[in-house]
Amino acid sequence: MIEKERVDVNMLYKDELLEEEKVFKDPVHRYVHVRDRVIWDLIATKEFQRLRRIKQLGTTYLTFHGAEHSRFNHSLGVYEIVRRILANFKELPHWEESERLLSLCAALLHDLGHGPFSHSFEKIFNLDHEDFTQRIITGNTEINQVLERVEPGFSQKVADVIAKTYEDKLVVSLISSQIDADRMDYLQRDAYYTGVSYGHFDMERILRVMRPIEDQVVIKSSGMHAVEDYIMSRYQMYWQVYFHPVTRSAEVILTKILHRARYLYKKGYAFQLEPVHFISFFNEQVSLDDYLKLDESIVYYYFQTWQEEKDPILSDLCERFMNRRLFKYVEFNPNLQIQEWMTLHKLFQEAGIDPDYYLEVDSSSDLPYDFYRPGEEEERLPIHLLMPGQELKELSRNSDIVEAISGKKRTDHKLYFPHDLLQSCADENIRVQIEEILYGQGGHTYAE
Ligand code: ZN
Repeated sequence: MIEKERVDVNMLYKDELLEEEKVFKDPVHRYVHVRDRVIWDLIATKEFQRLRRIKQLGTTYLTFHGAEHSRFNHSLGVYEIVRRILANFKELPHWEESERLLSLCAALLHDLGHGPFSHSFEKIFNLDHEDFTQRIITGNTEINQVLERVEPGFSQKVADVIAKTYEDKLVVSLISSQIDADRMDYLQRDAYYTGVSYGHFDMERILRVMRPIEDQVVIKSSGMHAVEDYIMSRYQMYWQVYFHPVTRSAEVILTKILHRARYLYKKGYAFQLEPVHFISFFNEQVSLDDYLKLDESIVYYYFQTWQEEKDPILSDLCERFMNRRLFKYVEFNPNLQIQEWMTLHKLFQEAGIDPDYYLEVDSSSDLPYDFYRPGEEEERLPIHLLMPGQELKELSRNSDIVEAISGKKRTDHKLYFPHDLLQSCADENIRVQIEEILYGQGGHTYAE
């Protein structure tokens, strides 16, 4: 009898609605609507609130000063898009209404494991934000407590949807596919906050023509042009915003700071400010607790303070990052210019500028859209159009615009270095040799 009552209480929590709908004012979607008690409780957990202190675009604010928005904003946005899609799906065949809450939770929590400047931290300390997303959802956290109140094992289901292993692939495709709620939110949101004119497309139209068919979301063919716009805006955002060389310059410096701090720590250097929050990262033994404690406000505190450290490289790099004295860059292909790379390395050493910290090649590449290629490094589910006769047709077979960029991977290589340090190099002869390599081949620096 008691057991039965407990089950009933759980059922209630899952279906419980707030007395009144709550709304968050949002510059991209106007309003984010919350009616489910579970969603409201998830937002209130400390692990979700932490996302307010992680910027969505890392170092991009040093290029586009408006880009200070957080992962919190974006996560609410992805939730809102899925909520709107599912409001349209409600009565349609193929859609299982019992998957609604699961889809909303997965949308809200999909980026939960991002840390400060994820890209650089993951590279240096061998971390994976997706792994932390899983651990936060299934571990001993407030998030996990809320999810387990829905029903025992519910947290694992949410984790499976985000890891793309959940059995109902229709649910997975809402959150990760080539036209998912995640991308639709970040393209618009990042365009809004950076202030660029790319990134806009008619999302309302796309939402209206989305249809659930068996294990995927497809687009009614009448909405093809809206999808073309979305693909093009994604393509442009990558090259104009996400891979902007100035942003990458800041990221190179950030990476070098972490490198240097770890090196000094391992060497037993006496820090004026002991890097307490970083120690488990340096040792690559990061517990969930350590991970959740390190947000961007902590990182800035260290970088600000390390400007006063006696180690000249650490203090210089921190000073550059905090005050935006970034590295300059030139076009440079590391695959074709191996000899130049080695010569530069040697000349930097002779000039007394440590090439391990002041010379770096960064390469970025993107594949804007691709059809299904089984066995490729990243298998992508194609976007399918639902034709008037109900058959499905892969997007690039119907759209000339999309066909033109399908499967085309573009890569950009840049060499980063501190122009100001070269200018003050005492040995004129070395400086001229370095500049000849850097600028003598049609390359040139850009004013930021
Ligand atoms: Zn996301």
